[in-house]
This record gives sequence, structure tokens and C-alpha cells, in this order.
Amino acid sequence: MDDDQGRPLRFAVIGAGMAGILSAIKLREAGYDDFTVYEKADRVGGTWRENTYPGLSCDVPSHLYSYSFALSPDWSHRFSPGREIQAYLEDVTRRHDVEGAIRFGEEVVRGEFVDGRWRLETSTGHRDEVDVVIAATGVLHHPRVPDFEGLDEFEGAAFHSARWDHDVQLDGRRVGIVGTGSTAIQIVSALVDRVEHLTLFQRTAQWVFPQDNPAYPDDEREAFRSDPDRLAGLHSHLKELFGVFANAVIDADSPEIRMIEDACRANLEENVSDPELREKLRPDYRAACKRLIMSGDFYDRIQRPNAEVVVEGIDRIEPAGVRTADGRLHELDVLVLATGFQVDAFMRPMELVGRHGRTLSDAWAQRPSAYLSISIPDLPNLFMLNGPNGPVGNFSLIEVAELQFGYILQLVELLRDGECSEVSVTAEALEEYEAARTEAAKNTIWVSGCRSWYLDDRGVPATWPWPFDRFRKEMAAPDLAAYDRR
Ligand code: NAP
Repeated sequence: MDDDQGRPLRFAVIGAGMAGILSAIKLREAGYDDFTVYEKADRVGGTWRENTYPGLSCDVPSHLYSYSFALSPDWSHRFSPGREIQAYLEDVTRRHDVEGAIRFGEEVVRGEFVDGRWRLETSTGHRDEVDVVIAATGVLHHPRVPDFEGLDEFEGAAFHSARWDHDVQLDGRRVGIVGTGSTAIQIVSALVDRVEHLTLFQRTAQWVFPQDNPAYPDDEREAFRSDPDRLAGLHSHLKELFGVFANAVIDADSPEIRMIEDACRANLEENVSDPELREKLRPDYRAACKRLIMSGDFYDRIQRPNAEVVVEGIDRIEPAGVRTADGRLHELDVLVLATGFQVDAFMRPMELVGRHGRTLSDAWAQRPSAYLSISIPDLPNLFMLNGPNGPVGNFSLIEVAELQFGYILQLVELLRDGECSEVSVTAEALEEYEAARTEAAKNTIWVSGCRSWYLDDRGVPATWPWPFDRFRKEMAAPDLAAYDRR
């Protein structure tokens, strides 16, 4: 960028997942060419690079889980498999020619704000100095492995769902899966017909929304290819259809949530024939209180003769398998821990030191928070994509990141245009925002009586509790009164 176009700015983007790729493309599009994307792994893709478990797909329709500027006519299914999403992200990176800006194998471990710039240090000892940091480090990133007694002594193979060991033979083996989140449910459906015996260790039953997954036949994909309006039309249609889920969850009394509940209940009643199994699978809380499971085949697959749902708690792991609280040993060859993620890490363990020596650890000593999930007081010129307490639910985090990026660019323009050289939310604005968010969360389905990863240490949902349209409006232009500009 030339001087007459304002102050030249150098950027660091942290992470080359969905949001980091987006940042690189959008920075260049806005005329900011001086940036580096730091990626600790050796490939782009983030969560889609790390999760490779059998049955992996996104429960947001693929045509919505796409960049608005790179709609694809080629998705194979309404909910396409994870490897297709990974290929899509790699393809978009290539087509937008941003791969050259990525430094692979470099994890940013530390950053300090000195004299108006961020001094960064990576795991290889490389140093960089930038004006703006964009943290695109993802949400569900660090696996949560329960500390089951005896786990190390298990003689079979044991691994977390996000660290799938593809060298381990599954066909014809006895496989145990711990957990009943979206991940476990997808794994069960994909594996049951391949294994000799499948044991699902369920701590909490889940409501399952009956969602089929139709393929897009070749001729339909060809039609999308030759007629972009048709593709755009499908995008709008799906957005409207799935918008119901996004808005239903924020109002526990809405007719939409009742409709979802009815559909889940009917799914259980009509599609699980064995009364004993049906009761095991029946949750004792309201649908969508936990992240809603979308599956058209889970109930079918879990009723296979070689599948078993175990509801007794796990007492310990033994060399031969899992011992449950009723004293029974479930002998296994493979144990999959689909036990979720440490959901409050975000960009940590990166160490950040902002103004007046104030650190990220100080700011997040109690729990992570950020104004509109983007900015943190005293950490100027540092912006997060998909940061704490942002929108969650069955809608596209790509759309969320795009909206957030548009907002961040407007703050960056203040720096470029010399209106200020440091910008971060004020402590007061963050406090006010958090108070309003916490209050609004009381109306949501997430606090209707269940345990879930949405709830923080106080039991407050760590999410956006308002309609998605309000998020869109907030992202349209920053309220500058909320920002400390120097
Ligand atoms: P999760 O929703 O956090 O589920 C973890 C599961 O492990 C829960 O059933 C939990 O039981 C169980 N668990 C944890 N610790 C346990 C212990 N010590 N003993 C027994 N059970 C234990 O994790 P996830 O399934 O990986 O999904 C996380 C999120 O990733 C989803 O909510 C979704 O946002 C995203 N995801 C999305 C897709 C998709 O299709 N878009 C697919 C996979 C994941 P409790 O329920 O009792 O706590």
C-alpha cells in the first residue's frame, strides 16, 4: 500500500484454518499486501485438517458452509464429508493464491505490544513485528481427554476422535466409543457395519433431529455449474431453512423450538423399536439444550445386533477393556474418546502482553471474554475471529467469520487513515456488553437444564444470545464509542 493511501500496515494472521484463509484473501482484496499467516501445522484447513474420523461431516449444509465469494457447485451432498471440506479449503487457498503468504510449521507462542507494534515470536524462534494481529485460532481445538484410571494400561489402541490413528485396523474388531456428542454419533453411524462389536459409552442421552443427507446428482451439479443464479438461489433457500435453528435456540418458548422438540421426540418414538433401548436413549432435558445432533441414520445404526449402548458410568480402563460401575468388563480392541474439546482455550497457550504489561492470562483469569468476541481491553490492534462467546448453533461459522472480518477491517481503516494508532475496546464497554449478554442468555434453551460445552464455569452460555440478524447489524459498523482510540 502506498503512503498516499495511508499508513502502511503489516499484519500477522494466526492460523490457516477457515478464518485464517479468509483473512489472507480479504486482506489482499482490501489492498493490504504486507501480511504473514502463521500456521503451526504443515497444511491449511484447521479443524478439517485435524478431524479425520470416519463419518466426519459438517452438520451445516455445505452450500452454507462455504465462503460467500467462493460458492461451489461441486458439493456431493447437502452435508458433505469432512475430506471434501478440507479439499475445498485447500482449493480456495490455491485459487486465491495466498499459500505463499503462509509460514507452515510455525506456531506463534508469544506476542508483546511495544511502542505501538506487536512483537511476535514463533516456536522456531522466528521473530516478526507487525501493526495488527488477527487471531484466527479456532474454537474447538484442544482435545479434552478424560483422566480415566488405567487409560495408559489399555492393551488395545486408544485415541481421541480428533487424533484419529488411521494405522489402526477397525474392520472386524471390537470398538468402544466414549461420548454422545455430534462427533461420536457420526462415528457410530460410520463404523457399526464395519466392526465386530460396537459399544457406545453414553453418559448423557442426546436428542437427535432426523436430518437426511441427500446427494446432489451429477446433472444437478452440472446445472449449478452452468447457472450461477441457481447456485445462489439454493444458497438463499438453505439459509432461510436453517435460520430456523439459529433463532429457535435463543428463545426457549419459541414455536420453532417446540417444533424441533416434537420432531426429535417423534424420531425417538417412531424409529427406536426396542422399549428398553428407547428409554436408554431418551434424554431428560429439552431438545437443543445441548448442541442438537443432526442425523438421519443414528437410530437405525445403533439398533444393529452388534451395537450396544452402555449407560453405566466408566469406572476404569483395564488392559482388556472398559470396566463400568456395575462391575462389568467390556472387552475392546479399540477405544475412541469422542469426549470433546477444551472450549475455553481459544488462542491460548499463546502468551500475549499488551499495554501496561497487561496479559491475556490476566484478562482471561476468570474466563475468556471479548467485546463482540473480537476485541480485548488493553490488547490493542489485536482482533479475533470466532473468539469467545460468539454465535454458535447449527449455522455457518464461515458466515460469522466473514461478518467479523468486515467489522475488523473498519477498525483497521482507523489505523490506516491515521485516525488513531491503537484501538481496543474499553473495559467499560466490555463490561456492559457482558452484562447484557449474560442477561439475554437467561431466555435461551441452553439454560433449560442440561450440561453442555456451551456453559461456562458459572453456568452462563458462552454464546451469542440474540437473533442472528442482530449480529449482522452489529457487524455492519463498529460503535466507535466502545473503543479506546489513541
Ligand atoms: P462434545 O459435544 O463436547 O461431546 C463430548 C461427549 O463426551 C459428551 O457426550 C460427553 O458427555 C462425553 N464425555 C466427556 N467426558 C466424559 C467422561 N469423562 N466420561 C464419559 N463421557 C464423557 O464433543 P464433540 O462431539 O466432539 O462435539 C463438539 C462440538 O463440535 C459439537 O457440539 C459441534 O459444535 C462440533 N462438531 C460439529 C460437527 C458437525 O457436524 N458440524 C461434528 C462434530 C463436532 P456429557 O454429554 O455427559 O457431557
